[in-house]
Amino acid sequence: MNDYLETECVEKIKKECLLQVFDEIDSTNEYLKKLVKREAISLPLPVLVVAERQTAGKGTKGRKWVDSPTSLKFSLLISFAGESKRLALLSPYIALKLRKVLSAAAKKEVKIKWPNDLYCLEGKTAGILTEIIQKAGTLYLIIGVGINLASDPEVNRNINSLAGSLFKRIDPGELKRIRSLILLCASEEIIRTVKNLPEELSAEEIKDWNQSDVYNGQRLRLIEGERIVSEGQNVGIDKKGRILLQDGNQTKAFCIGEASLRP
Ligand code: ATP
Repeated sequence: MNDYLETECVEKIKKECLLQVFDEIDSTNEYLKKLVKREAISLPLPVLVVAERQTAGKGTKGRKWVDSPTSLKFSLLISFAGESKRLALLSPYIALKLRKVLSAAAKKEVKIKWPNDLYCLEGKTAGILTEIIQKAGTLYLIIGVGINLASDPEVNRNINSLAGSLFKRIDPGELKRIRSLILLCASEEIIRTVKNLPEELSAEEIKDWNQSDVYNGQRLRLIEGERIVSEGQNVGIDKKGRILLQDGNQTKAFCIGEASLRP
């Protein structure tokens, strides 16, 4: 752990979470899922799992998150005491808050793509995978995050879209400091976000989202596999976190589900 994260950040993280750092793991989300099934109730929560290498990183809808030595991968396990109807906003709300943390860290604007991807330097830079488990009357949230800190051509060779990163390159001597700081700020922000998860987005948050939307105002398709579910101009999100696509004089709202938004 000493080589991977700075001691000062580790000490701060440990004040809020039970921290586990792995050299290698299949998937930080999968690890936590197994942990919940085995023993979550007796665990002091939240649990933060960080992995230097992920051999089977997960995206949404059965997709993969491709690993890189210059990316940060972690998952948080948090018990949720709020009303379950608030969870509809979980993924986009975390994306909205994480965007600010990453923009501040990179000192450049990180954009957002509905429902929960973050873009920087022309490509997808961070992905969020939220999973919800109910056990013995308690809701457990597993929030997995992968962030490309520096660009890695190997990632682009392994995906069919363009990867972005917070920085073009990071001096090897700086990587540990940047990774540690981002882990500390991002995990604190996610824990705070879950505690204060609203039922609806405020007008300010909707404005913030729309201004940061990577495809703001563009004509988009909503696709499910090869099938086009809908098409229209992206006119923003609504207070429930649904994407609004306008076609002619008709505006339709779409919930987070199996469909993906594409230009
Ligand atoms: P959506 O369905 O919301 O449009 P998506 O297509 O981006 O999302 P996700 O499940 O969010 O899919 O993330 C997995 C996808 O992200 C992969 O299919 C791949 O295209 C891309 N990807 C995988 N690893 C990386 C990475 N390290 N950096 C950038 N993009 C990646």
